[in-house]
Amino acid sequence: MSDSQYVHPRVLKFNIGFLLVQGAGHQRDMELDLPRLRLDDDVELDFLTGTLRLSRNSRGVLAQGKLKTQIVGECVRCLEPITTPVELELEELFSYPPSPETPYSVDDTGILDLAPLLREEAILAVPMGALCRPDCAGLCLECGQNLNEATCDCKADDIDPRLAILRQLRE
Ligand SMILES: [Zn+2]
Ligand SMILES: [Zn+2]
Repeated sequence: MSDSQYVHPRVLKFNIGFLLVQGAGHQRDMELDLPRLRLDDDVELDFLTGTLRLSRNSRGVLAQGKLKTQIVGECVRCLEPITTPVELELEELFSYPPSPETPYSVDDTGILDLAPLLREEAILAVPMGALCRPDCAGLCLECGQNLNEATCDCKADDIDPRLAILRQLRE
């Protein structure tokens, strides 16, 4: 898929200078409704919706929200794309001023970049070894044929002895 079909992850960079100048206790809700996104080349979200609450406190800005998305991955057997619907529950402090002691910070120019946090959460939310369907037949190791779509002649002898006998009879 070409890059033009994704929105740029810069849409996840929020300028929150207005909140930084306000004191602890102020908050702002941001409505997210984004189309397909790619995060750092290895995580793809089909869409992202929900409300992100940003609350100013003495250490920075707390980001909280339940965001709905669909994570795009591939079946570990046949490599066809599969999407996993998930709800990401975020609750993370973005320190301000930026601090090396917390994993996330608001930068000096007042930008809060949600992309790295979302990427982390998305990776944690995807089940390992996801299959397109429970009985996915996978790819033929010899010719690469997707065995869900068609069969091939490679290794048929090893797989089904009855087929092997039929073939011998034909020869
Ligand atoms: Zn599959
Ligand atoms: Zn084959």
